[in-house]
Amino acid sequence: MIRVYVAKHSGFCFGVKRAMNIIDDVAKKGKKKPIYTLGPIIHNPQTVDKLKERGVTPLEDINDINEGTVVLRTHGVEKRFLESLKRSNLDVIDATCPFVSRAQDYVKKLKENGYNVIIIGENNHPEVLALKSQVSGAIVIENGDEISKIKSLKGSKVGIVSQTTQSIENFKGLVCLIMDYFKEVLVINTICNATSQRQESAIALAGKVDLMLIVGGKNSGNTKRLYTLCKRIAKHTHHIETAKEIKKSMLRNVKNVGIAAGASTPDWIVNDVKTNIKKIYKEELKNDRKR
Ligand code: SF4
Repeated sequence: MIRVYVAKHSGFCFGVKRAMNIIDDVAKKGKKKPIYTLGPIIHNPQTVDKLKERGVTPLEDINDINEGTVVLRTHGVEKRFLESLKRSNLDVIDATCPFVSRAQDYVKKLKENGYNVIIIGENNHPEVLALKSQVSGAIVIENGDEISKIKSLKGSKVGIVSQTTQSIENFKGLVCLIMDYFKEVLVINTICNATSQRQESAIALAGKVDLMLIVGGKNSGNTKRLYTLCKRIAKHTHHIETAKEIKKSMLRNVKNVGIAAGASTPDWIVNDVKTNIKKIYKEELKNDRKR
């Protein structure tokens, strides 16, 4: 008998559910066609593929189109894209997560109040690029190796915000490092609750199982961080995108499997994973009995 547990907080978060509802409405209500998202609406390739089947296409460059409706994704978009969209004839629908918008507002307020802005997050993540674009001169720090980037700000006052899906551990560690360089540091923890809850419940589950499966897009920052955090606790931790990636070898000698899904992973993928674990386990047992 194999037992499968899903982390208490797992899968679609508030911001992703909201964005999916918005796009569902747009697709149903006959908005100006064709319908695009600026970049993938969320970092989950299977969801993006399903949307493509419904006529919603991810777009990299708005200069490629001159008609239709563009939905802005949960991560927000860079200011320069927003400005081009305003000048265009395209209909724009904003599905930016309110927590991302709040972080953008903090960045602007910090700058208005004379703080140089430091963003703790992934250099090339769309949310971070959008945050950075809100003001001039914002600096992004991804890890301790990049601390030299802030030396040019020495003598000024700095305000720190975070990518909403960072781990609190990385955020706190970098805040401590940054504080060594400045007399005045204003820290605003913009990590969203959904992220903290998913990380905490994944870590709690990882400590109790023989195998931990982290389910979500390989391009999803928050899913990758769940993997990194759980891998430190449970040696047998794997990041999979779909049920097809589960191998028999992963389940050998395993009695308890934990599943934690990133904030952009739909329930149907988690259900497929659960079903496939049980199916593979039964086949393993059958083979074992024959031996
Ligand atoms: S992870 Fe947080 S910030 Fe990102 S979309 Fe979900 S609720 Fe919004």
